[in-house]
Amino acid sequence: MLSSVAHSLRLGCQGSRRSIATVISGNKTSKLVRERLKNEVEKMKSQFSGFRPSLVVLQVGDRDDSNLYISTKLKAAAEIGIDAKHVRLPNTATQDEVLRSIMSINENLSVHGLIVQLPLDSVNHINNELVTNAVSPEKDVDGLSCINAGKLSRGDLSDCFIPCTPSGCMELIRQTGVSVAGKHAVVIGRSKIVGAPMHDLLLWNHATVTTCHSKTPDLPEQVSRADILVVGAGRAEMVRGEWVKEGAVVIDCGINHIPDETRVSGKRVVGDVHYTSANQRAGFITPVPGGVGPMTVAMLMENTVQSAQRFLLNNQSRT
Ligand code: NDP
Repeated sequence: MLSSVAHSLRLGCQGSRRSIATVISGNKTSKLVRERLKNEVEKMKSQFSGFRPSLVVLQVGDRDDSNLYISTKLKAAAEIGIDAKHVRLPNTATQDEVLRSIMSINENLSVHGLIVQLPLDSVNHINNELVTNAVSPEKDVDGLSCINAGKLSRGDLSDCFIPCTPSGCMELIRQTGVSVAGKHAVVIGRSKIVGAPMHDLLLWNHATVTTCHSKTPDLPEQVSRADILVVGAGRAEMVRGEWVKEGAVVIDCGINHIPDETRVSGKRVVGDVHYTSANQRAGFITPVPGGVGPMTVAMLMENTVQSAQRFLLNNQSRT
């Protein structure tokens, strides 16, 4: 909201043409979310004799990228006061063993959130869909089970877990102060984890939504009609600034590594949007890194705290 005020002030100074978009910081916004959650957990602890939300991250195998993502989640949880455990199965685990492990965590009343770190790293064939749907919908804080996805697609937003990346994108859009209702939103990508739930969220927040994918003809034309643009395509800098409508809100979920000889690592991270050209036309834009990425972890924490609150509510009403 503050940034939208700053943006309007700047427009006032510069007349009708803007030269550069207001940056929507995921680092700052996620910090605010995490601080709020920390307070909520503190309250729960004092009201319910030491009660703490608890999260289990189930990993199969030992992928380096998964290890990094998991350690980020465990660190964020610890800072908020969530009791987070990492359960690792070997890459020789069979589908049955993975499912049994999920069932046992489902039945454990002291666990409020369970996520299975994807992709699975197994020497055996494991059906991802089966695994994702084995997680109890009440603990599915990644929001990836068919039950939660179905509720979201029907607009039952208060009765489901919303996948963390789209949920983080909505939070960033809220920060701009731009109202979603009545706007034309364009989503690029239709994956279960980003694009499809993003479409549903925007739709049920009353935008008119166009969802694009790899078979969409004339992507620039679709993008040019977007008041709100959310991109999750996994294609480095694919969306060019010239495509973007003047003043649009641009949310970039992409995380792509491209070669960069000026860096010690020899590479750098860019989004799916060509940032330097898009920020000449957008009203608001998320950076990569430091935009959607930190929000994804914050929203996982939000879902876990919410799950623990629902658990307390149900248990209180039973007693
Ligand atoms: P997927 O590969 O599962 O999906 C990509 C989607 O983009 C598909 O629907 C695909 O279409 C569409 N697409 C691909 N190429 C084009 C194109 N040229 N034109 C239009 N649409 C295209 O990726 P994810 O959804 O998992 O991730 C998307 C991006 O978001 C990635 O960069 C990923 O790293 C990032 N990400 C970031 C997260 C974060 O925390 N910041 C979390 C999750 C993902 P089709 O369906 O036809 O194949």
